[in-house]
Amino acid sequence: MDRDASEFPIQFIKGVGPQRARLLSRLNIRTTRDALYYLPCRYEDRQNIKKICHLAYARMETAVGKIISMEVVRLPRRNLRIFELVVSDGTGLLKGKWFNQPYMKKNFAVGREVILSGMVKRDSYWGTGFEMDNPEYEFTDDDPGSLIHTSRIVPIYRTTAGISVRVLRSIMFNSVSETCEDIRDEVPAEICSRYGLPSLKESLRNCHFPDSGQDVESLNSGNNDYRRRLAFDELFHLELGIAVMKKRETKEKGVALRPDGRIVNRLREKLTFRLTGSQEKVFSEILDDMRRPFPMNRLIQGDVGCGKTVVALMAMLSAVESGYQAAMMAPTEILAEQHYMNIRGLVQDLGVRVRLLTASKKEGSDGDVAPGDADIIVGTHALIQEGIKFRKLGLAVIDEQHRFGVLQRVKLRKKARNPDVLVMTATPIPRTLAMTVYGDLDYSVIDELPLGRSPVTTRLFHDNQKHLIYQAIEAEVKRRRQVYVVYPLIEESETSDLRSAIAGKAALERIFPAFRTGLIHGKMKTAEREAVMLSFTGGKIDVLVSTTVIEVGVDVPNATMMLVVHAERFGLSQLHQLRGRVGRGSDQSHCFLIAYRPYGEEAKRRLDIMVKSTDGFRIAEEDLDIRGPGEFFGTKQSGMPGLRVANIVRDHRLLEIAQKEALRMVGSDPDLMQWPHLKNSVERFWQGKLDIFRTG
Ligand code: ADP
Ligand code: MG
Repeated sequence: MDRDASEFPIQFIKGVGPQRARLLSRLNIRTTRDALYYLPCRYEDRQNIKKICHLAYARMETAVGKIISMEVVRLPRRNLRIFELVVSDGTGLLKGKWFNQPYMKKNFAVGREVILSGMVKRDSYWGTGFEMDNPEYEFTDDDPGSLIHTSRIVPIYRTTAGISVRVLRSIMFNSVSETCEDIRDEVPAEICSRYGLPSLKESLRNCHFPDSGQDVESLNSGNNDYRRRLAFDELFHLELGIAVMKKRETKEKGVALRPDGRIVNRLREKLTFRLTGSQEKVFSEILDDMRRPFPMNRLIQGDVGCGKTVVALMAMLSAVESGYQAAMMAPTEILAEQHYMNIRGLVQDLGVRVRLLTASKKEGSDGDVAPGDADIIVGTHALIQEGIKFRKLGLAVIDEQHRFGVLQRVKLRKKARNPDVLVMTATPIPRTLAMTVYGDLDYSVIDELPLGRSPVTTRLFHDNQKHLIYQAIEAEVKRRRQVYVVYPLIEESETSDLRSAIAGKAALERIFPAFRTGLIHGKMKTAEREAVMLSFTGGKIDVLVSTTVIEVGVDVPNATMMLVVHAERFGLSQLHQLRGRVGRGSDQSHCFLIAYRPYGEEAKRRLDIMVKSTDGFRIAEEDLDIRGPGEFFGTKQSGMPGLRVANIVRDHRLLEIAQKEALRMVGSDPDLMQWPHLKNSVERFWQGKLDIFRTG
């Protein structure tokens, strides 16, 4: 692969060497290109050089003066050696102090003119006068082109132990000046001019060492054309990869299914409810896709409880009608087991054979349908493991996609010859973001809850208010309703003082000896767990104590109350998912959050939003804001390349532009034949993750 001249090991930049190169790798800086894209975390304005007599206390200021004295002062009692420097500009004196760095002395000489930048304090001996602790310094007789620490807008970089900000800044300066000229601009000039984006060189130089006269505030907020240009580059590379994949998939041949509605209609008769308009609309979009001779690749997004499962089941039955198998992959065993039980209950007497396949249920027991003979196979990621073979897979459904990555989806698809793929998620995100995160997927939304649902009421309690909750639980159980109590841990542990499910269940049994309590968690055997879930679904358990294993998907409409213990410990989307376990029938449901003090600001914010809102969309936005896109989307596990400059939330307008331009380019040149360099750099950006340009 041809290498960009701007990319070589960082070690060879002036001032680096092997030892610093090792330290820099901790910041993910290995090549000069990495360095160029390692942007400052903020900027300081040190342009405005003041007369010493005009310095203001408690502000970051810059001044220039001649060195009139210097000495190392010892404070043996405090075990300190302080290097002190006094400069004068004729209007006053300014002292610079460096603590325990006596070697500083050799950097200075009396009579030389020095620029000092730092926080201005009162002189600690006299109580008046000016001093700066550990100021940044440079000399006026240095080459003016290489003043980088003072008298300009100065970049501040996040650094790592062993490399000072000053050293890192010099390394950055050298990287920019030694390599920026050679960097190749991969984005077609025509696109840059269409959106008024400055050139790459200019942008890199300005993001690191801004030209004078810029507004430091807009630099710090990222709201400037130079940063936007760099962000655009990343987003364009991201979107090109996605566009190429999508184009390739639509070119691939899939199976055109011929569903005739014969089984689906019998299912409809068995359902105790009518589908919502939204469900019908999405189902017909799916049918259209399935009938086409290309592989379907569709995302269904819908808030918790909107009824995604039944739509997926109808899609699977449509595959079965056409003589194919269908598979459904769920992120947890409990959820897979539940889907299995529900689906089997609904379709067994329609002559449809269902089989469960999870890590603990691989072998299959007597009476199980063999995977090859099953019409519908429900399972966990065990489905995509080596050795599992389908006979004739026509449709693969992935439930709760946010728990899986792009790569797992690709693997499931590889289990057969381009089956149709349907993925479902309850994480509501804006369309453009969905396109990015889920890449190459078409997109349907169920934006309607079944009729007659009333929103779950949510209240926050603290640990001294437990009795109120107990009363509420008691009343609910007396009305023959069921209750979830969720804990963050299975059992007490030495390393944490959090309350646990096992201890919690014991406490509940003491308080309510008459209640039937149950326990469910991830470490139980499948058979035990299945038994507990069956009793809970069948109404034989009043209070189910659990861990977050019930977070996704579990569906028991008669459960109308949930208590989350240590709610301050849970993430926002997680709380919303948990709360989605109640409010699934027509009865008013309640969610109690119990929080243990002390907890931080962020936890408070999460709890507040939960109390105020049941709108999954709003909650996702807040969560995105609190955690940032990286963590929110789990970009690492999703197989998406990481972004260094762009932020898909803040830069969503740019993302739209990048998407539009990428689709346009790939539309006329699917393999980027006319853009060989760009093609290389897209491949490098995706790090060969999805072999996007390889055929076959
Ligand atoms: P989710 O979208 O969170 O996966 P589910 O598919 O588990 O939601 O559905 C939640 C509950 O709503 C289930 O008990 C399901 O049977 C029920 N349900 C689904 N569609 C409807 C509908 N149109 N009317 C009434 N209840 C419905
Ligand atoms: Mg679900």
